[in-house]
Amino acid sequence: MTSNAENTLQQLVAMSLSLARPDRDLVILGEGNTSASVGDGTFFVKASGTQLPQATPAAFVRLHIDATAAIADQEQMSDDAFKAALDAAKVDPSDARRPSTETVLHAIALGEFGARFVGHTHPIAVNAIMCSVAAEEALRGRLFPDEIVVCGPAPAYVPYTDPGFALARQTRQVLRRYADEYGMPPRVVVMQNHGLIALGGSAQEVESITDMFVKTCRVLAGTYAFGGPHFLSDANAARIHTRPDEVYRRRELKLS
Ligand SMILES: [Zn+2]
Repeated sequence: MTSNAENTLQQLVAMSLSLARPDRDLVILGEGNTSASVGDGTFFVKASGTQLPQATPAAFVRLHIDATAAIADQEQMSDDAFKAALDAAKVDPSDARRPSTETVLHAIALGEFGARFVGHTHPIAVNAIMCSVAAEEALRGRLFPDEIVVCGPAPAYVPYTDPGFALARQTRQVLRRYADEYGMPPRVVVMQNHGLIALGGSAQEVESITDMFVKTCRVLAGTYAFGGPHFLSDANAARIHTRPDEVYRRRELKLS
């Protein structure tokens, strides 16, 4: 393995262990998965059946980004064909480990949408909103400036879909629409009745985005005790997103 690949894997393991810390309430047991691009057209993703709280370098499988993302070009796929296609996209075809169910989604985020690190978690604070009848409406507006500085102009909202192949296809469509609308890929993707995906330029950014979006969801839940959320106006939200001192703050926070 090149030193660059080793370095990426090391950062990915550290990020995974950090996201899995019990006090953060982001994942338990086998929940969640993480990935990172090596920068040479390949990426590491959590192997199926491994747990983030016990992540080690051996918990990650290396695949080709383009070949993995291209699986979503198929219109439908049986479970067996999906598994075979994932096996064929591995850098080492003799590697018997099975990559995470959400591997194609990770390849899409790292390839077409330019993330370097991706963290998918099931935070209690986020899923309290995402498993509610009011989820889409509750996430319609922005609540406070730091939410926008760290998490971007809006989260991308993915309606509930069967995890794996169907979810990867559906999420790609939502992300493409988002990129057209905002002129940038989302930093936060929320999946109905499922959880959160943070797309970062670094491992640190994935953690910052995850933390800030969890905070946003906690604040949001709190607002319903006082009559519901008071959203920033579109003009105020857009102003935060583009003003030079916020761009400076993003740079100081090591956000891309
Ligand atoms: Zn999940």
